[in-house]
Amino acid sequence: MTHVVDGNAVAEDVRDGLSDAIGTLKAEGVKPGLATVLMSDDDASATYVSMKQRDCEEVGIEGIHVEIDPDAPAEELYETIDDLNTDPNVHGILVQLPVPDHVDDREVLRRIDPTKDVDGFHPENVGRLVAGNARFKPCTPHGVQKLLASADVETDGKDVVVVGRSDIVGKPLANLFVQRGEGGDATVTVCHSHTADLESHTSRADIVVAAAGVPEFIDGTMLKEGATVVDVGTNRVDADTEKGYRLTGDVDFESAKPVADVITPSPGGVGPMTRAMLLYNTVKAASDLADVDVSL
Ligand code: NDP
Repeated sequence: MTHVVDGNAVAEDVRDGLSDAIGTLKAEGVKPGLATVLMSDDDASATYVSMKQRDCEEVGIEGIHVEIDPDAPAEELYETIDDLNTDPNVHGILVQLPVPDHVDDREVLRRIDPTKDVDGFHPENVGRLVAGNARFKPCTPHGVQKLLASADVETDGKDVVVVGRSDIVGKPLANLFVQRGEGGDATVTVCHSHTADLESHTSRADIVVAAAGVPEFIDGTMLKEGATVVDVGTNRVDADTEKGYRLTGDVDFESAKPVADVITPSPGGVGPMTRAMLLYNTVKAASDLADVDVSL
């Protein structure tokens, strides 16, 4: 029987664990605070930010939301970040990407205090992750690790193929898989749009992680019998629904499920975990900054 991993249930477990940690922090007079900054007219970005704020409220994290007119000068965003960096009630800062073209997104990531960089995208935090001394693991890769652990999927000695090499998913995830210790010790191949023969890689992998943003392009014929399949993809495809679209992953679930031993669906797999790990990183930031041990 294929184990279909329920990302919502695992995310719930993560949030339950955080409630205890938040209680400990509050007893010490610390209320974790997450600032979200939105400089965009994009509906999807606004939805993501409001979901993150709602998640904060549910677990008892103080949500601080800042909106900046997308036509405002870049300096306005940079100065907002500077203010949040020095605000003692703010422990985590998240600038919703993408930012408008006239804003230098690398400067945005560099500007955030690395100790409040709960996305884990600041160059210092990227360097620490690669060096095996992560301060904040980026939310989606960390969520993938937690999902695998929840399904008792061992990575030690396994052949892992990560499809996608983005800075937010593919690269950090590949780095986590090659680290020494729990959730790592794997032999990792990273595939991308220049990979000559994708199937030759996926079909021999013990664990395939699909993070390419191409709807349902990895099907059962491309997988080894008994593989673990993690679908990071979250794609909108036209559909006869009220909204005119449906969400689907990068994996063709119906053909992949009978081949796989373990599979994460999309939606309902990695997505909820990404949100939960943002809360996790915010609690970690608060406990580090306040020097309160919450045993995360
Ligand atoms: P990017 O577009 O930044 O990166 C996509 C990567 O996939 C690139 O490295 C690209 O290669 C590679 N790629 C594209 N097409 C192919 C192909 N046909 N074969 C092999 N590789 C290919 O995407 P993200 O990493 O930001 O996101 C990937 C997917 O994950 C999206 O569907 C996104 O919505 C989803 N996502 C989901 C999250 C969640 O919480 N569930 C969080 C973040 C993302 P190249 O570098 O050569 O262009």
